[in-house]
Amino acid sequence: DGLADGEAVAAGERVIAALRPPFEIEGCDVFVEASIGVAVDDTEGATVDSLLRDADAAMYVAKSRGKARVELFDKSMHTSMHDRLRLLADLRQALELDQFIIQYQPTFELASRSLVGTEALVRWNHPARGIIPPLEFITLAEEAGLIQSLGGWVLRRACAQLRQWQVEFPQNPPLQMAVNLSGHQLQRGIVEEVREAIATAGIHPSTLTLELTESVMMRDVPSTVALLRELKTIGVRLAIDDFGTGYSSLSYLRQFPFDILKIDKSFIDDIGSDEQHELTTAIIEIGKTLHLEMVAEGIERAEQLERLLSLQCDIGQGYYFAKPLFSEEMEALLIQRRNQVQAA
Ligand code: C2E
Ligand code: CA
Ligand code: CA
Repeated sequence: DGLADGEAVAAGERVIAALRPPFEIEGCDVFVEASIGVAVDDTEGATVDSLLRDADAAMYVAKSRGKARVELFDKSMHTSMHDRLRLLADLRQALELDQFIIQYQPTFELASRSLVGTEALVRWNHPARGIIPPLEFITLAEEAGLIQSLGGWVLRRACAQLRQWQVEFPQNPPLQMAVNLSGHQLQRGIVEEVREAIATAGIHPSTLTLELTESVMMRDVPSTVALLRELKTIGVRLAIDDFGTGYSSLSYLRQFPFDILKIDKSFIDDIGSDEQHELTTAIIEIGKTLHLEMVAEGIERAEQLERLLSLQCDIGQGYYFAKPLFSEEMEALLIQRRNQVQAA
């Protein structure tokens, strides 16, 4: 019944909370997080096997909804488990079959409203299901060990696209491109892979930004710091994504060689409320103190833009300016802009 459900979920939440503070191992802070699935024996005929299977299905849902979460099993998750296996089989072939596409979401300098760059966002063009958003397959790709090859493809494709646009639409400073990296890509080989993608495309390294989320970096701080420093020697820019949703402390933030801080959309959503406004103000002040370029994500309304302008946030991205665009649409936008500049 509802009471048992509530108690089980509360127990799961206590486990997640208990795991939140770092563990010290050999002098280093190590972070772990748990995704928890809960199944309650409230039906007749539940067996140990059926409970474990249901809890497992709920755990996968928890993972796909963003980790460090508790999810309670419900019947719809059976199909989602089945869907998951079907999807996984399809995913294994998707790269070979050339089913991935990239959309590009432009970013703007807030003060001048000028377009400064784009972020590459991958989509899966599934033959039967249509366009599937990344949140529905990135975790699956990570678990299946497919993210390295998918991520490598996105990186090379985005660099090649950037080169083409930089040549066709020269501007000063040149157009930027941001690419998201999964934590699973943060291994030795990534440095060579990035170097090669840049060289093959023929872009200047400083026009490429690599975005990493907070939670990814906190998994193993010393080795992440070392790897990021190595990436910095190539000359790329590094961004911390979804800032404010993880647990990074300020002392950690200073150790990582970041250039850009992207304030999570959740702060921008309620920037009209006093509390969120104060938090956003504080985040921007911290970022400025650390000499980071500040980017606001998910700007949807004019009043959010006004607030961010008054807080002297540098760059913005969101539906208010433009949704993620297919490359032809992005090109049309760049042409339109070039015509405006020439007319002025
Ligand atoms: P993200 O990096 O935080 O990307 C921003 C997400 O917010 C995108 O969702 C974008 O479409 C959405 N968005 C932008 N502006 C607005 C707005 O004004 N309102 C609303 N409601 N949403 C907005 P998308 O494309 O579904 O991507 C989701 C996440 O998937 C990304 O979050 C990123 O973490 C991940 N992702 C996307 N492409 C890749 C990739 O190539 N590799 C990896 N590892 N992850 C990727
Ligand atoms: Ca991003
Ligand atoms: Ca983000």
